[in-house]
Amino acid sequence: MRMPLIAGNWKMNGSLSLVEEFGRAFAGISLPVNVEVALMVPFPFLGAAGQALGETAVTVGAQTLSDRPSGAFTGEVSGAMLRECGARLVLVGHSERRALFGEDDAAVLARVQAALHAGLTPVLCVGETLEEREAERTEAVVLGQVEAVFDALDAAERARLVVAYEPVWAIGTGRTASPEQAQAVHAAIRSCLARYDAGLAGGMRLLYGGSMKADNAAELLAQPDIDGGLVGGASLKVDDFLAICQSAG
Ligand code: PEP
Repeated sequence: MRMPLIAGNWKMNGSLSLVEEFGRAFAGISLPVNVEVALMVPFPFLGAAGQALGETAVTVGAQTLSDRPSGAFTGEVSGAMLRECGARLVLVGHSERRALFGEDDAAVLARVQAALHAGLTPVLCVGETLEEREAERTEAVVLGQVEAVFDALDAAERARLVVAYEPVWAIGTGRTASPEQAQAVHAAIRSCLARYDAGLAGGMRLLYGGSMKADNAAELLAQPDIDGGLVGGASLKVDDFLAICQSAG
């Protein structure tokens, strides 16, 4: 049985007062017990988020990390630092990191390994562009991104990941993949993971991301291979994010 995970990705948005608003809101409600909830906040808010959400069931995460453990890398943040500041999960390979910051599969793998080394749960993001989908290359691209990481890990490491399928054309565009489109890619990812180990495939949580909102979450989350959501824009509004968390229960 896979526990659904709803993870909010604030990207470079939010404020300390929004962190406090989330803390107050989540302290006042009971989340479905069978759903894990996480908020991936910008680095400077990690400590405050840990405090504000500490009494709630919400876990705090980060949005990227350095591939190095320490040293002369001005501006970088290591996995150990993230853990010390309360992060338990970290996004790796988000399409914005791949497209805007030049993170290729090798860079993504190095960050997954750094996250594992620091005791963090890497949420590996994969997804195709519109051009790739239209060229009928969705599976080749997505499974290639999955294999670039999973091939290099051992069985114990693989089991510690979460995978988020995020079609690039659906991120921040208001254009959501249909439940059928999303399910088809999730099923392909699970079959790909089964080539490593059937137990790994059965236990791996596969999240969908891309314009998930309160009014489309339930239908997406009802698909057999969708085990949660990575939520960008809608995670910045308490009521919308709460509604998505409730619909996963
Ligand atoms: C994301 O940032 O991972 C994301 C899915 O964004 P949005 O929900 O805004 O499309």
